[in-house]
Amino acid sequence: MRADDWVRARSAGVNPTQLAILRLLDGRGPGWTVKELSLQLGVSQPTVTDSILALERKALIEKQADPADGRAVRIVIISAGRAVVRAGEETAGAVDRAASALDDDDQEQLLVQLVSVIRQLQEQGAIPIQRMCVSCRYFRPYAHADAAQPHHCNFVDAAFGQQDLRIDCRDHETADPSVRAATWGAFQKDHHPPGE
Ligand code: SF4
Repeated sequence: MRADDWVRARSAGVNPTQLAILRLLDGRGPGWTVKELSLQLGVSQPTVTDSILALERKALIEKQADPADGRAVRIVIISAGRAVVRAGEETAGAVDRAASALDDDDQEQLLVQLVSVIRQLQEQGAIPIQRMCVSCRYFRPYAHADAAQPHHCNFVDAAFGQQDLRIDCRDHETADPSVRAATWGAFQKDHHPPGE
């Protein structure tokens, strides 16, 4: 996956940390502070600061005063930065190709197991809680009787299937801990492995 990150970033004209910052900023209107970016990425603030300077030189982001705090600066992506994110997304990686060689049931199982492992790491505090449906305040697991599309996203107000569970959604907003626990409980309770 790290090798894929390098290929995607190189094809988009940045390095993996810079691409990760742009992806975090993409779709987040108010932007992030350096401290917030550092927490989200799990890297040091000096590393983020260096990357921000490079992205600013490439005219992919801009700094704006925080309307809520005159001394704070927020980093905001601009249209050229969004184009870089899209360019990175268009490059299919080796991991994508390997996963797509699995049959549909195995892909679904792999996705659910991946979600479960990432969630454990997030709830333990090993990595930040971000970008997955199961921790999102818009996620309603098994809200529908339709086995093909049992889940509901309140952000786009649409049903979706297990195979479309997101692990990297830019529209994600973290639910409160009690809501996350209840959501995970409902997701686990009604989840039946493919083929059952
Ligand atoms: S906003 Fe994104 S992460 Fe949240 S439920 Fe909808 S698709 Fe999932």
